[in-house]
Amino acid sequence: MRRPIVGGNWKMHLTRIGAVRLAREVGEGLRAHDVDAARLDVGVFPPFVYLDSVGTTLSDDRSPLELGAQDLHPEPEGAFTGEVSAPMLLDVGARAVLVGHSERRHVIGEPESLIRRKTHAALAAGLRCVLCVGELLDERDAGTTNEVNERQLRSALEGAAVRDPDMLVIAYEPVWAIGTGRTATPQDAQQAHAHIRRVLADVLGTDAAARVRIQYGGSVKPANAKELFSQPDIDGGLIGGASLKAEDFVAICLAAVPR
Ligand code: PEP
Repeated sequence: MRRPIVGGNWKMHLTRIGAVRLAREVGEGLRAHDVDAARLDVGVFPPFVYLDSVGTTLSDDRSPLELGAQDLHPEPEGAFTGEVSAPMLLDVGARAVLVGHSERRHVIGEPESLIRRKTHAALAAGLRCVLCVGELLDERDAGTTNEVNERQLRSALEGAAVRDPDMLVIAYEPVWAIGTGRTATPQDAQQAHAHIRRVLADVLGTDAAARVRIQYGGSVKPANAKELFSQPDIDGGLIGGASLKAEDFVAICLAAVPR
């Protein structure tokens, strides 16, 4: 009943020309397989500076792709040097945004209080908010995966108004699996997703929780996507490395289309 959703997080890669080419190739690849927005939501998340060019490409070729940004500042405007706000993202055609990606939490050092403000700002602005959660390797080894996911979720969603559950997507991304070639087993990932949905039910109510899509992220490749996406609570994926190659990303998207 939930339409699957796949996102390509391009991180700090590509040039303007390369980003436009990749977006065009992905759009063509999806159309060649008749993948339309009724069966699958697909988003691409280029660096800020390429949003405008990629957005123009997508609107030019009537692509089914949704444009997303990798981050936002919680305030709509002001003296925040180097930052980009939700209204600015909407202005250049972005319709989605990643919040709390593990590289922002653990490399840049964003605290949970800031991630909460960003979550609220994205939802209030009408951007699809892809809220990323996930445990570090030592947290997994300590058996605290569910605890960590629950803490991050409750913290980010505290006081948030989720009027349309379609506009909130959770990306479960075990940090030890991101960019490492290691993937959670489909069974472990399903177990974590089921717990996330239980927490969502407690926070948002059961009806909303049943509608929120939960993506898996962490070294998803064409070879492992199908098995991961066939788990009952895995509604697609957030893809890093493999999203930079159109052929691989399209293959992963196809693996998410319901048969
Ligand atoms: C990510 O950064 O969101 C991610 C899942 O990366 P990768 O697919 O490269 O592990």
